[in-house]
Amino acid sequence: MNLSVKIIIALVLGAITGILLNVFAPDLFPPLDKYLFSPVGKIFISLITMLVVPIVFISIALGTAGLGDPKKLGRIGLKTISYFLVTTSFAIVIGIGLAYLLEPGNAGTFETEGLEYSSEEAPPISETLLNIVPTNPIQSFAEANMLQIIVFAIFVGFALAMLGTKVDKVQELLEQGNEIMMYLVNLVMKFAPYGTFALLASAIGTQGLDAIKAMGLYMIVVVLALVIHGLFTYGSSILLLAKRNPISFFKGFAPAMGVAFSTSSSNATLPVSMSVAQKNLGVPKAISSFVQPLGATINMDGTAIMQGVATVFIAQVYDVNLTWTALLIVVMTAVLASIGTAGVPGVGLIMLAMVLSAVNLPVEGIALIIGIDRLLDMARTAVNITGDAACAVVVAETEERAGRV
Ligand code: ASP
Repeated sequence: MNLSVKIIIALVLGAITGILLNVFAPDLFPPLDKYLFSPVGKIFISLITMLVVPIVFISIALGTAGLGDPKKLGRIGLKTISYFLVTTSFAIVIGIGLAYLLEPGNAGTFETEGLEYSSEEAPPISETLLNIVPTNPIQSFAEANMLQIIVFAIFVGFALAMLGTKVDKVQELLEQGNEIMMYLVNLVMKFAPYGTFALLASAIGTQGLDAIKAMGLYMIVVVLALVIHGLFTYGSSILLLAKRNPISFFKGFAPAMGVAFSTSSSNATLPVSMSVAQKNLGVPKAISSFVQPLGATINMDGTAIMQGVATVFIAQVYDVNLTWTALLIVVMTAVLASIGTAGVPGVGLIMLAMVLSAVNLPVEGIALIIGIDRLLDMARTAVNITGDAACAVVVAETEERAGRV
């Protein structure tokens, strides 16, 4: 049986186990979760997260060195960023449009009296972007600051390309390091079905079914928007820009989506999504290792969709009419908020505060959706990393057709 099938079965079994425990054995769930599901899930997340920093550094340094020519890097960078920005804007528009169509905030009564939400301080986007050049790369590694690691790795890769044979030992060291990392990704993935089972059982078992019922339509709108965006935006870019079969794209990338779904973390999924894109989708290493780490850090279409839907939902609950100008501000701030969202669980919701304040909506509204956000986080993370892979395929195919790779 191949890995994708195993992971999908594990996800389904994990969800069923979580629901059954939640409904029929609520007393049995806490000890099972504490001593089995949570620890197994945590070990799995740690195992793959362990590989993220070395993989990002090594593969980007090698990728940049492989591209050699800075012009080429610039062109690929431009294509990548443009794809990210355009698809993220589509994502928000789909989310907002669907929220207006299905009006989740007008379905039922939502108690807004006495809602409290203490917004955790999210770093201002300007600061994140200004700080992308690290002053101390060792610190960037220690803090797993992805953007800084990416920048440093690009510099190192550029130097490798310029210095050529003078530094071929270092190049070889990095190449062998890459072999080791990819071997470890495969090894860790053998554990993925158990990890995903445990994570799903834990997440679903913890979830109050009443909360899901109350927020049903909101959840449906978010999931529907995620599916539409995934199938149409990515599907059509694979078909029209990359001129490849979207079905084999989704099929090939499925194992990474499964891992994203269970871990709710783009960063943690990165080693898997890169290895799957290279092996199953045939994306050249140099392009995958440049596009995907960058995407896992700044390209979050699923998150942007949630932020768009949540903003309209909260406006509907609080009976606030959003003007066209306000909607435009929502689109712009949600693009920025999703760029600023770190690829770890739950941060998208923290960044939502920024979008709400930009159009003077009450930040307390977040308290309404926080209860079910854990579940939606799984789905949006799967979309987040699929967008990065779709971009990698599009960039790879267009470069290849132009005879540049
Ligand atoms: N969990 C998401 C990710 O890692 C970010 C978020 O929306 O909270 O991609």
